[in-house]
Amino acid sequence: MKVPFLDLSLQHRALRAEALAALTATYDATRFCLGPDVESFEQAFAAKLGYPRVLALNSGTAPLHLACMLAGFGPGDEVIAPPFTFISSVWGVSYTGATPVFADVEAGTFNLDPAKLAAAVTPRTKGIIVVHLFGQPARMAEIMAVARRHNLFVIEDCAQAVGASYEGTPVGAIGEVGTFSFYPTKNLGGCGEGGAFVARTEALHTRARHMRVHGSDRRYYHDIIGGNFRMDGFQGALLNVKLPHLAAWTARRQEIAGRYLAGIKLADTRLPEQPAFARSVFHQFTIRHPRREALRAHLAQQEIGTDLIYPVPLHLQKCYAHLGGSAGDFPVAEAAAQTCVSLPIFPELTDAQVAHVIAGINSF
Ligand SMILES: *Cc1c(COP(=O)(O)O)cnc(C)c1O
Repeated sequence: MKVPFLDLSLQHRALRAEALAALTATYDATRFCLGPDVESFEQAFAAKLGYPRVLALNSGTAPLHLACMLAGFGPGDEVIAPPFTFISSVWGVSYTGATPVFADVEAGTFNLDPAKLAAAVTPRTKGIIVVHLFGQPARMAEIMAVARRHNLFVIEDCAQAVGASYEGTPVGAIGEVGTFSFYPTKNLGGCGEGGAFVARTEALHTRARHMRVHGSDRRYYHDIIGGNFRMDGFQGALLNVKLPHLAAWTARRQEIAGRYLAGIKLADTRLPEQPAFARSVFHQFTIRHPRREALRAHLAQQEIGTDLIYPVPLHLQKCYAHLGGSAGDFPVAEAAAQTCVSLPIFPELTDAQVAHVIAGINSF
């Protein structure tokens, strides 16, 4: 039985007629940049996911960039982030000329360790980028306590965590701002690039709304420095078709994760921890095993796809060599990068496929 790591065609085939009708309507009405499709998506997203206000943007990297501009990060400033994440989590820090400073993660959840975060704060620290990695919310109460103590601007990278909550509060609504991605492989994926931005206050929201369109409220009058961060109409139209399905897709991911958590019994395997404060949306289901290459080969023989997310922590990436990071700096992140294996987890997987993955792992 074949179990691909991810197959986007199933979801898109099921929604084909509806999606093409929506895209055609947008095409015929020439609603190409922002516009009514994007506005209706913003309203529906805010209402369904529990945010007071939302801005739709043109990627998941864009809101992170915008957030760092909005926070006023600049040369000489330090912004603390976990090293075990997708690189885009910290691009905005570099774009604004500030310096990413890493703090190690917890072994059980792969998320920022509040004690390591507190130890990384210096007089130059201006902000924190919290990543809710793999759909699992980070330890926000402890992280916010550090932020409040040092007056730090908190950006929640929710690219993998749409629909996740921390003690009942949706992720992204706890820090100053939250950012989302609608890259096709994310839990809510567009047909192309897309992202969103949520702000805790009306003032931050308004400023970000102007920055999204070249720092202007009125055409050709630019009060602040902005950029082009607009979502295009086609993505709004498509996401309007997909959003009503998100809750069911998330429930299915959680069901599959429940089966993996209960069924996987392989010795020396570390399963992702599920702390009581959080409700994960399982963007990934990532286990750890000391012989992960052999395990992957064993699974590949049974036609089970896996992926390595992420093989190299950020402090060891070439682009950040100038920061002087070296092996041993963040042992928990490094161990995660060396032992992690991500398993297939997407809503269209059948129960038989899930059982095949579990049996495949347990027979290693
Ligand atoms: C996908 C992702 C992003 C960036 O999103 P894009 O839409 O690809 O620009 C940022 N952070 C994390 C953790 C991601 O997984």
